[in-house]
This record gives sequence, C-alpha cells and structure tokens, in this order.
Amino acid sequence: MKVLKFGGTSVGSPARMKALLDIINPAERQVVVLSAVSGTTNSLVEIGQAYLAGDKKKAAQLITILKDKYEIFIKELLAKPEFLSQGQEVIDYHFSLLSNLANDHFTNIEDKIVVAQGELLSTTLYHVYLKEIGVPSVLLPALDFMKIDEDNEPIVDYITENLQPLLDQHPEVDLFITQGYICRNAYGEIDNLRRGGSDYTASLIGAGIRSEEVQIWTDIDGMHNNDPRIVKGTQPIAQLSFDEAAELAYFGAKILHPQSVFPAQRYKIPVRLLNTMDPKAQGTLITNTSEKDKIKSIAAKDAITAIKIQSSRMLLAHGFLRKVFEVFERYKTSIDMITTSEVGVSVTIDDTTYLGDITKELNTYGSVEIDVNQTIICVVGDFGAEKHGYAARVLEAVKHIPLRMISYGGSDHNLSLLVKTEDKVETLRSLHNRLF
Ligand code: ADP
Ligand code: ASP
Ligand code: MG
Repeated sequence: MKVLKFGGTSVGSPARMKALLDIINPAERQVVVLSAVSGTTNSLVEIGQAYLAGDKKKAAQLITILKDKYEIFIKELLAKPEFLSQGQEVIDYHFSLLSNLANDHFTNIEDKIVVAQGELLSTTLYHVYLKEIGVPSVLLPALDFMKIDEDNEPIVDYITENLQPLLDQHPEVDLFITQGYICRNAYGEIDNLRRGGSDYTASLIGAGIRSEEVQIWTDIDGMHNNDPRIVKGTQPIAQLSFDEAAELAYFGAKILHPQSVFPAQRYKIPVRLLNTMDPKAQGTLITNTSEKDKIKSIAAKDAITAIKIQSSRMLLAHGFLRKVFEVFERYKTSIDMITTSEVGVSVTIDDTTYLGDITKELNTYGSVEIDVNQTIICVVGDFGAEKHGYAARVLEAVKHIPLRMISYGGSDHNLSLLVKTEDKVETLRSLHNRLF
C-alpha cells in the first residue's frame, strides 16, 4: 500500500483538486493525505490570533472573507445540486464552528481547533467531489489515529493500532482520504504537527502501516540543490539518503517538514518528492543509499540565536559541558550547532522561549554572550573522514563573509556555518556559484 500526500498548492483550487485523479490511481489501494487549500492555514492562524487578542470583530471579518472563498470554491468543484448542497453543509458546519468560538473563553486549546479546520475542509470537500463523480473512497478522520505524547512526539504504535483496523474495515475500498497536520495530544485535545506538518503525517502513516512507499506531491520537481526562492538556477537532486534529506529538511529546505523523514527512515520506507504540476518529472528519491563523492545541496535556517559561554574554569575541567547541556535540557531547549575550544563553548538554539532563564543559569558557570539574528547555512555532501578538499572549497566560497561558527565532522554529510542573517542571501549565492 502506498501513501500519497498532496500539499496546499496541489489542492489549491477546484481545478487542481480535480486534477489529482490524473495522479491518483483509484484502483490501487492507498492512503491519500491532503493539506489545507493553500492560504487557508495562514488565514486560520490570523483568525486564532484575533480571538486570542480578544478582537472578535476582526475574527468575524476574517471568517467571512475565508468563507466567501469557499462558497466560490464549491461552486467550481461540484456540479450536481445534491452534491453542491452537501458541499454547502460542509462549509456551513466548519464556519459556524469558527464563528461560535466567539462565545467561548478562547485559549490555546481553541486556537488549535481553529487551525485544524483547513485540513478538515479540504478532505471533506474532496470526499464529496469523489462521491459526485462516482469514485468510491473512505474519509478517515486523522483525529481517530494520529496522536502525540506529552513531549509532542507522535506515537507510531498508536497509528498502527488504530489506523490498520479502520483500513481493514473496508476491504472493498481502495482509496482512503485523510487529513494531514492534525492530531490529538496526550490530553485528547485537538492539536497539530506544526506548520508544514502534512509531510510528517504522510511519513507517520507510512511507518504506522509499513507502506511500500510514501509520495510527497508538491509544487516543485523534488529537493533542489539550493533554496529556489533565493537562488536562481537551482537543480533537482535525483537521490538522497534519509540522513541527508533529514539534515536539509531540519536546516531549512521548506519542501519537507523538519521531522518528516524520521518515521520513514526507521521503517526503511522509500520517500519520493514529486511535482503535481509536472507528474512525469523524476523528482527526488529518498532511501538508505547515498551518492558518493559529491556536494549535494545547501539549505539555510533563520532565527537562530548563538550563545557563547566562556570560562577559565573550563580549562582541564571535566563535567563542564555536561553542566552546560543540563541547563538546556532543564528548559527542553534543543541545541542545533556546537563548537568548542579549551576556554569556551558556543551553541545555537532556535527556540528562545526560555533564553532568559537559560542565560541566568549559564552565568553561574562563566561569562555569557548572546548573538541574535543568525542563520545556519547547512552544506550536505559526502564528507567522510577520509575525504579531503570539500571544506576548503566551502570556505573559499565564503571567504568574504564573516563567520560566527563552523561545524564539520559531526556526521559524514554535513558542514554547517553560522552567519549573520543579513549575510544569508550572499552566502547561499556565493556557495551555489562556486560549488555547483
Ligand atoms: P506544500 O504546500 O506542497 O507542502 P511547501 O511550500 O511546503 O509545499 O514546499 C514546497 C516549496 O519549498 C517549494 O515551492 C520551494 O519554494 C520551497 N523550497 C525551499 N527549499 C527548497 C529546496 N531545497 N528544494 C525544493 N524546494 C524548496
Ligand atoms: N496546512 C498546514 C500548513 O499550512 C500543514 C501543511 O500544509 O503541511 O502548515
Ligand atoms: Mg509543506
């Protein structure tokens, strides 16, 4: 069984939704994961923010604007009166739910309910469309099988235990539709897998049902060798290993949700990145194999904070790094990059929620310096210990750019640089021109 995920642009208009059947073979048993129609989650985020700010008038205005878009959407998607009225019921249900939240005490719990409506709308409307054109399908509620624990970690066994029986209930049906992004949390509340999380849903379902392949259908022909939004002339990469793809996704390649590779990797399920606008294009195949002797791709992650802790007491002191890392652990703040010297250590974080507390505690071990507005530039390639020359090529390409940190050798395929965000574009372009 395969899992196919279609992103926001791939379901972004009635015409695009209808065109999905050029890609989906309805006679093959598969789970199709849909994102919200592009733009919808952003609008829902704004609605949630308006409610959180107590601005019910603004929330109501935003709800009306979004609802109007869906009124037009269903008129193009559905033709027969019977199905049009089903589509209308779907819209009325979800938009009254949004409006009625004005009567509740609005907290983060309600906010999660708001942002979940996008995927619920897209999948339900697509299901009505499939009924209208006579394609048998079953709509599976992701909230019945997708769950995260207290640490926001998805539970693959829970998916296996709860999704497989749902699939088994319908031996006569081949096409199953479900929502990306949304889930329940440890308290049974509606939650989500963070922005871009539909990729993660697809990989988690792939892992949960041990599918033969996961396909991520999007608006570009695979993982490119640099960020196509910033650099001209980027090229798709035919083949990546799970580790390489994970590294690129984590360090900013927006085509994949940062964590989405891990479930597929754990169960060795191949992941293909494919282009809905050009279904014949080769795309990117992500498996256990990696192409050798190559620099493959560059990605960038913004909003990074660098923290330097210097201490003469570090000299010859064992246990110093443990103490430093324990501070970050206490505040559940993960570290991305690390560089050390005999008298100091620099680390980077992206979650600054507890930066104040962390700084205060670190101050007891030495002097602390903070640099904000930093960007990690991640170069992925075949950088095993026996290789030579790659680091020199990278550093030569950025010799005109001030570097805050350099990290190499943490794995066999990553070289990371920390630069000021204002230097990011020049760094990406210069690396691209000189490495590819
Ligand atoms: P979807 O809505 O289908 O999930 P996304 O917008 O999340 O699509 O991801 C696809 C976009 O990712 C592309 O349109 C492209 O602009 C952006 N992107 C950023 N870095 C890369 C990269 N290295 N390779 C391919 N696309 C990338
Ligand atoms: N709709 C969600 C978002 O826009 C999830 C996704 O598209 O993957 O972030
Ligand atoms: Mg995405």
